[in-house]
Amino acid sequence: MDKCIYCQSSNLDKGLKMRGSKDIGHLHFECTEGSGGLSMFAKPEEILADLCKDCGSITRMYVKNANHTFLKDK
Ligand SMILES: [Zn+2]
Repeated sequence: MDKCIYCQSSNLDKGLKMRGSKDIGHLHFECTEGSGGLSMFAKPEEILADLCKDCGSITRMYVKNANHTFLKDK
């Protein structure tokens, strides 16, 4: 997807890191390597985003490596 789905602009800034406050690191999912695994060994998988520079919409949110078991809300 190389165009904004909202305004059709191709002026996108890709792979932006999403931060919380300065005390919180990058936003991430918790996951364990491979399949199965114990939640006590959860690791962060950073969430990245693409931003449309013309209308300010976040056009995509994604992780670099989706080959994990992601932890879900109980
Ligand atoms: Zn846009």
